[in-house]
Amino acid sequence: MKLVTTGIDALPGVIVEEGAQRYTVRLRIPAGVITPVQMKKVADLADEFGTGMLHLTTRQTVEIPHVTEDDVPALKLALEENGTPIGAEHETVVNITACPGIERCRLANVDSLTLAMDIDRKYFGRDMPVKTRIGVSACPNACVSERLCEVGVTGLLKPIRHPEKCTGCGTCVEYCKEDALEVVNGVIILNNDKCIRCGSCVHTCPYGVITAGEPWYQITFGGKRGRHPKLGRHIITVSGVQTASQVIDILMYRIYRHGISGMLLGDQIDDAYVGIILSEIQQKIPPENIISEW
Ligand code: SF4
Ligand code: SF4
Ligand code: SF4
Repeated sequence: MKLVTTGIDALPGVIVEEGAQRYTVRLRIPAGVITPVQMKKVADLADEFGTGMLHLTTRQTVEIPHVTEDDVPALKLALEENGTPIGAEHETVVNITACPGIERCRLANVDSLTLAMDIDRKYFGRDMPVKTRIGVSACPNACVSERLCEVGVTGLLKPIRHPEKCTGCGTCVEYCKEDALEVVNGVIILNNDKCIRCGSCVHTCPYGVITAGEPWYQITFGGKRGRHPKLGRHIITVSGVQTASQVIDILMYRIYRHGISGMLLGDQIDDAYVGIILSEIQQKIPPENIISEW
């Protein structure tokens, strides 16, 4: 499938298919959240304007394949009325992804859905020098592979021990997948170097010996998929969702102003670049919200 940027396919999210006779129309569905009514309408539109087929994408959205050029304008209007407008592709901010987060997942540390929706309102579809993917996971299990995005956010939780109440039962030790917990002389010990701040132990101690600190947001930059995938670099970890949003704003502005067209962001970043971004962020956000230990 090729991407063309003239004529009807200049609409971001309208992708010319092989043979150039038909188009695939990609929708904007932030964090993959859609109502049943909207979904039914999308299915009806796929019948009316496509060939009755829908395709679910890796970025939590939906495509209607095989639409003719003549039908694209009417489909566009119908999708807008449905609240599922045509999405974005190519060198823009594309569909924002997020895991279910605190609303549904017992492992979640932060409200990934609300943050993703906020990011979508600010940045979705914006023209950028490079394709910009943003993903938000509410814990280090990283269900949306946010570290393979240009901007990734991962929710963390620092466990706080109250060893004087520990019974030494070992339940939390069983649950910690990082071998960061150990019972020594009947008391729980935490190995900070091994702990990845997933927060699982907080939910597992039956006696409330391990409690939750304030949630943190780990922010990564410059990840990419494709032929030569790369994990995004850890830029900073902060407390407070507003500070996390501020960091994202700084990173987005960086990409917009300094990104080089024709090259994936992940290939434009080196240690010096990361250092420059970090010092810019440190000058702009409240120092008390920077988690220096992570
Ligand atoms: S990333 Fe964590 S919180 Fe989000 S769905 Fe996966 S396990 Fe649950
Ligand atoms: S936060 Fe996660 S990694 Fe750290 S001790 Fe608890 S379960 Fe283990
Ligand atoms: S589960 Fe709670 S009580 Fe049991 S060893 Fe861990 S911290 Fe101590």
